[in-house]
Amino acid sequence: MFKSITVVIIAASTASSFAAVNPYPMALRASLSANAKSQSLNEWESSGFTPHDLFARFRAQGNAAEFCEALVALPPRDLALFEAELESPLNQRLLPCRDSLLGKLENHWNQFNTTTLLDVPTDPEAHRLPSLEKVVDPTTTRATVATGGLEKGEIAITLDDGPHPTRTRRILEIFKSWGVRATFFELGFQAHARPKVSRDVLAQGHSIGSHSWDHPNLPALAEKDLPAALAQIDRGRKAVEAAIGENFPFFRFPYGATNEILSKYVTDQGLVSFLWNMDSMDWKLRDPAELLKGLAAILDQGKPGIILFHDIHEQDVLVMEPFLQMLKDRAYSTVVFVPRKSPALLP
Ligand SMILES: [Zn+2]
Repeated sequence: MFKSITVVIIAASTASSFAAVNPYPMALRASLSANAKSQSLNEWESSGFTPHDLFARFRAQGNAAEFCEALVALPPRDLALFEAELESPLNQRLLPCRDSLLGKLENHWNQFNTTTLLDVPTDPEAHRLPSLEKVVDPTTTRATVATGGLEKGEIAITLDDGPHPTRTRRILEIFKSWGVRATFFELGFQAHARPKVSRDVLAQGHSIGSHSWDHPNLPALAEKDLPAALAQIDRGRKAVEAAIGENFPFFRFPYGATNEILSKYVTDQGLVSFLWNMDSMDWKLRDPAELLKGLAAILDQGKPGIILFHDIHEQDVLVMEPFLQMLKDRAYSTVVFVPRKSPALLP
């Protein structure tokens, strides 16, 4: 009698300790903490705990119920770190909790009223910023472009990882009303999923480079499988070209991470590789007020050059108009990079 009760108790406690081993809460915490600690995009990437890494591991061998349980438990401001992965077509049908999590984030973002962040005049006539073109010749620009050779008072706005189903267009509307042109670095799978948004970006006079197919760390991938890394570059570029019917010879390495072989390959393809010298830190600052404060500090250094944003993040949409107003207050001109057409291509 006693013996059988002991067996039952042991069985029950073993079962419950198995049930308690859900690895996802810890993985999500590791991701949030690595994000908070990182000082640069490259450092954040090297942590091995980016949402991209976590979701790739989940797709390879994950348990959807356990992953959902962990995601549902996050407060919205933490959940926001994983939003791009929740929205990604790659994960669309894998998580039963996806729609409710995205709904929770929508409510979270709706509470921010950015008109309180900075006094932006409502008169559209006041929304003008000088917009300049900087011609980049891929046949002579061999080195990676980090500052774009811009002069004092000039800033090139660049936006990566889109096109996003709704946010890219909202940013386009803001740019249109301010007369601003920018350079977008799109992911292949995103452009493939929504080519119409890419065409709208192009139609408004912006430049569009590519940014790989789905954002791996290319040097890390190249160490294991060089052809796969090169295919990421080619596939991303072709997808963007197929979406917009035009070929911009512009490329940006995911996380700005590259090595000698990859950089040479990109140059050999006739592509100019762009980095940045000002990071908005939007991959880390998810609160619009904090993001805008960081942007003010960057602009107060008075450097010219290339600033990095991501048109997939809601906080970027929310701060974009106040940011443009800050540029105006500091007498900046915005710059779009345009490729010099090779003589063979001219009509
Ligand atoms: Zn990126």
